Amino acid sequence: MPKLTPSRQQYLDIKAQHPDAIVLFRLGDFYETFDGDAEIASRELDLTLTGRGTNPENRVPMAGVPYHAAEAYIARLVEKGYHVVIAEQMSTESINGLMPREVTRVITPGTIIEPGMLEQRENSYLLALNPEPDRAGRTWARVGLAYADITTGEFAVTQLEGTPETEATIAVLEELARLSPREVILPRGWVERGVTLPKEIHLTAVPDYSFELSSARQTLFDQFGVGSLEGFGLAGDKGLAIGAAGAIIQYLRDTQRGALAQLTELRAYSTAAFMVLDANTRRNLELTETIRGGKTRGSLLGVLDRTATPMGGRLLRAWINQPLLDARALNTRLDCVESLYDVGIARAEVIESLKPIADLERLANRAISGVTGPRELLSLALGLESIPAVRAAIDGYETLAALRDRLDPCRDVSEEIRRAIDENTPAILGNAGIIRPSFSAELDQIEAATREAKDYVASLEAVERERTGIKSLKVSFNKVFGYYIEVSSANADRGVPADYVRKQTLVNAERYITPTLKAYEDQILSAEERIIELETKLFRDLCANIAACGRRLTSTARALAEVDVYAALAEVAAREDYCRPTLTDDDILIIREGRHPVVEKLLHGERYVPNDTHFDADQRIHIITGPNMAGKSTAIRQVALITLMAQIGSFVPARSATIGIVDRIFTRIGAQDEIHAGQSTFMVEMTETAALLQCSSPRSLLILDEIGRGTSTYDGLAIARAVVEYIHNHGRLNSKTLFATHYHELTELEKILPRVRNYNVLVQEDGEHIAFLHKLAPGGADRSYGVHVAQLAGMPRSLVNRAKEILHDLEQNGSDFEIKRRVRRGGSQPAPQAQLPGLEEPPHPIVAALKGIKVDELSPMEAMMKLYELQRLARDA
Ligand code: ADP
Ligand code: MG
Repeated sequence: MPKLTPSRQQYLDIKAQHPDAIVLFRLGDFYETFDGDAEIASRELDLTLTGRGTNPENRVPMAGVPYHAAEAYIARLVEKGYHVVIAEQMSTESINGLMPREVTRVITPGTIIEPGMLEQRENSYLLALNPEPDRAGRTWARVGLAYADITTGEFAVTQLEGTPETEATIAVLEELARLSPREVILPRGWVERGVTLPKEIHLTAVPDYSFELSSARQTLFDQFGVGSLEGFGLAGDKGLAIGAAGAIIQYLRDTQRGALAQLTELRAYSTAAFMVLDANTRRNLELTETIRGGKTRGSLLGVLDRTATPMGGRLLRAWINQPLLDARALNTRLDCVESLYDVGIARAEVIESLKPIADLERLANRAISGVTGPRELLSLALGLESIPAVRAAIDGYETLAALRDRLDPCRDVSEEIRRAIDENTPAILGNAGIIRPSFSAELDQIEAATREAKDYVASLEAVERERTGIKSLKVSFNKVFGYYIEVSSANADRGVPADYVRKQTLVNAERYITPTLKAYEDQILSAEERIIELETKLFRDLCANIAACGRRLTSTARALAEVDVYAALAEVAAREDYCRPTLTDDDILIIREGRHPVVEKLLHGERYVPNDTHFDADQRIHIITGPNMAGKSTAIRQVALITLMAQIGSFVPARSATIGIVDRIFTRIGAQDEIHAGQSTFMVEMTETAALLQCSSPRSLLILDEIGRGTSTYDGLAIARAVVEYIHNHGRLNSKTLFATHYHELTELEKILPRVRNYNVLVQEDGEHIAFLHKLAPGGADRSYGVHVAQLAGMPRSLVNRAKEILHDLEQNGSDFEIKRRVRRGGSQPAPQAQLPGLEEPPHPIVAALKGIKVDELSPMEAMMKLYELQRLARDA
């Protein structure tokens, strides 16, 4: 074995501490990777793979990036799911031939603080899950969940419990969908046993002991300087929550290698205080991004986000993701929106006053945690200086008074920054010129002491030209040789003064130094070093002073975010003609002339047709029929969106709206409308429908779009009908339901189930052509107009004509279209005894089986099994 060099050994020691991460090892102006890491880095970052060492046998693969460009490379690695360890040079000089190096940061997706690597208008959450197994040890009975955003200082914790019907896992998935954490940490023991979390989650296993109650509690005591966690709402049986919160702090300590001064508060919350939205509902309603493309534009957030600052943008996103259930809290929000809605000039003033504030929340946070740069402090000061204008703009509004009082301009902070930091400061630490003249007497003294030396050097060129008579003589400085006098070779040959000491020979010039110049140089250079050292210290002191005002700064930043959101919601409401909803605890939902906030903006000049919605004790389920493209899906989603908007405290796109607080919105979109990878779409559809039936209450709003579409007609129809009956009849459910369907047969249900109402989307027929009116009217539709849609879609004329012929044939001669024909003949007044025409004769085994099912007595799982059985029967038939 060849002996390892000291630095190789140093590298291997560091690598052994971080076997799962890519280690970036600082060597001069580069960060180098070695061995396997180098292979990964060269592949992922398109770097040239080189080698170190002359002997081919022990050549070490190596790939590096320049240190000043490292951030972009690190970002790419972290984006690809790698953890990156920075092993920094801790000095400029080696000790016994070895440069001292230390791990200064571990960068993982959930612990990023670099502004360039963050989404401005999104939080960056690290989330910890601390599960407790059920008795069988298979599923999660209870789960402690904590999350933190170290870029804003937010830190929250909860404990999720299962219910008799549902596992705690469901609640976990809902929180994951709400927060979209960048990284989730779990005890290694659980990870090794295998967990199924959504595949987009970046999962990191951490030692089990960080989650253990006693060590976690101690970690939290240390972080907050307390001796009890009761003040954080963690009294009683909250061990799992404490474990998760402690693990978050421990993990951040391990990765940041610095103080976590920005995490000063821990908020315990309960999901019971918020509307439940599962991942699919968020997706289907396109709350923060579109289903196709995943962009904010075209989502509800895209319409509502007129915020002026990034922190306002983040808060609005958080509100949309977490609607409230408390009418009083919502009315407080609505009052604030209304104040700004009423007076356009004041609103414009508020928005204008917010613009210069930038991301005060993250800027303050960076100062508090000491990772900030001098120019960022100037931005922080600028933001703080803009606060009086915001206060003035909302002055005089009773509703906003409490908020205004929270807006502290922190004048002491901004003034100290201005006093200390030079307007033209370099961007990063480690340079001279950060601190203003006259801020520090000590600094001024050092500068004054070097002034004589600097003046000497500045005048030297003229003096020496005079003395030597060489007009082209130059005095310059470079990093390697310091100060020197440069004379062309030709002139040098003719002779230079005796005190000139040759320092370097170039192709056609000679460089000299004189003893006096050398003395001054030493003075200047050592002063420079001291200046940089002192400026860095002064800067750090300044950050520490700012950190001492941390709470005032963060609370101000959060109040600003709120003002921003109210102004934005008021601005949208005014521009888009929204109204203030009336919130009530009664179980009703009445919307007059409601509109879909996103679709109405995409109509390019066409007018959006508003529609009414009415749910009360007597009307619980609306069955909505109508041809393809009529506007069914839009109409039912619009109700969900209006309800959700009301419950975040926004005005809504309607003439008027009375919204009984909804505890959950659940959407299920028929399988054909979307594509799931891997699973049978029908299976997905049924699993989700089963979940909906388990979790909903009369307070829930169910949006069912083309349920049962994912399978054959009989199956689909049977399921669709059974689902409606179940919701209607089950005492725990009776939820407010909008059911869009192409099964016209379902309109029969209105006759049988008292709380069902039929609606159809009107279509105007004009000979051959039809026009979609997008207007909901009572009663069921009687045709599907599919051929007309084909024509509208630009199918070839001849094809459309042929389809019409076939349709005509089918309508005349029956065959498979028996069912449709009968229903159409019956129209909206079908024969009362015929529940499902076409299914009653000829008697069919499936019908017999269906009739035998006691739907109310089946558990969802049993219902699933029955369905599979029915489907098998159908296939065999
Ligand atoms: P369906 O679900 O009945 O097939 P959609 O709800 O998908 O129909 O609507 C089809 C299209 O019709 C939408 O993309 C939109 O352009 C338009 N549309 C829907 N509802 C309205 C409305 N109320 N006013 C104007 N246009 C509408
Ligand atoms: Mg549709």
